[in-house]
Amino acid sequence: MDHQNLHIETLAIHGGQEPDPTTGAVMPPIYQTSTYAQEYPGKHKGFEYSRSQNPTRYALERAIASMEGGTHGAAFGSGLAAIDCMLKFLSPGDEVVACNDLYGGTYRLFTKVFSNYGIKFTFVDMSNAAWEEHMSASTKMVWMETPTNPMLNVLDIEAAAKIAKSHGALFVVDNTFATPYLQRPLDLGADVVMHSGTKYLGGHSDVVLGLLATKDEAIAEKIYFIQNASGAILGPMDSFIALRGIKTLHVRMDRHCENGEAVANYLSTHPAVDKVYWPGLEGHNGHEVAKRQMKKFGGMVSFTVKGAGFEKTADVVSAMKVFTLAESLGGVESLAGHPASMTHASIPKEEREKVGVTDNLVRLSVGIEHVEDLLADLAQALDR
Ligand SMILES: *Cc1c(COP(=O)(O)O)cnc(C)c1O
Repeated sequence: MDHQNLHIETLAIHGGQEPDPTTGAVMPPIYQTSTYAQEYPGKHKGFEYSRSQNPTRYALERAIASMEGGTHGAAFGSGLAAIDCMLKFLSPGDEVVACNDLYGGTYRLFTKVFSNYGIKFTFVDMSNAAWEEHMSASTKMVWMETPTNPMLNVLDIEAAAKIAKSHGALFVVDNTFATPYLQRPLDLGADVVMHSGTKYLGGHSDVVLGLLATKDEAIAEKIYFIQNASGAILGPMDSFIALRGIKTLHVRMDRHCENGEAVANYLSTHPAVDKVYWPGLEGHNGHEVAKRQMKKFGGMVSFTVKGAGFEKTADVVSAMKVFTLAESLGGVESLAGHPASMTHASIPKEEREKVGVTDNLVRLSVGIEHVEDLLADLAQALDR
């Protein structure tokens, strides 16, 4: 099948996939094996040892590459393991310029692990091009997340790609929140796109994984070298579960976006709500960029409870019944989170409040249930 001209909906189902050559199985079998028979030393069918290659994982790697408009994909045991792989491109003395509103675990990996190995991280507001002044001769990587977590800031990928390129820095985009269905960073100039596949790609809150995709042969080679050398690979069973989830990505995302819009509009008019963050709202500061680089605006909505402190906000999220109070996002079920005590607790209060993660902030991952049940649940939690 020539995958070049297929739409993303078709790629989600067929991208990089062929029926299994040995049996015709339509889904790639779970190759639960660590090793492969060789006919003669070094003479094999392309598979030697499952840290290096596994057919089920390879099917998933081809799928993400195809959906992101890349040529190569790599699958890891978690999103953080995928980020860890990219950071191993760097050497002591190198600098990373990253957006200042990051997933808490990414921030922790940067500042508590890799900073111990002589790598310097600078966190900047990337909402306008002035951040270029932080680029130096030592800047070897630019790291961007958009929309950001949990403030839903939208950053201009194309503009950042130009800045990174002009300084010779590798440009990586964490595309977890948007997914390739809503936004394709490689098309906009990114060198590598990264995913926590745990979220929308897997889509059912039943697996933890990370993915990378690129269309640069030299970068891909280095990714595979580190993937094999460091060993943080995804197992065959989890690769299968992720592939199964990806097949319905576009259908789920349409409903996530539709419900997200209804929830954002509802919260915007609620008297107990102060601010609402959703890139589809006219007043959202990244709305124009979002219209340009995203197909739709996503299913993540954050808001602040008017005049509430830590405890009252915790009470509101605990009172929700259809929205489950839980970390993570991107599954079919609606989840509510309190970033200050949950996902972003590892970021110092002062740092997190600078970017808007206040004690009264609530983050919603709007699921694909009936929208009226979601709105009624928010109403009963907010009206108490
Ligand atoms: C969850 C998440 C990660 C980390 O991925 P894991 O699969 O949990 O390791 C990275 N970036 C973003 C935006 C995330 O939401």
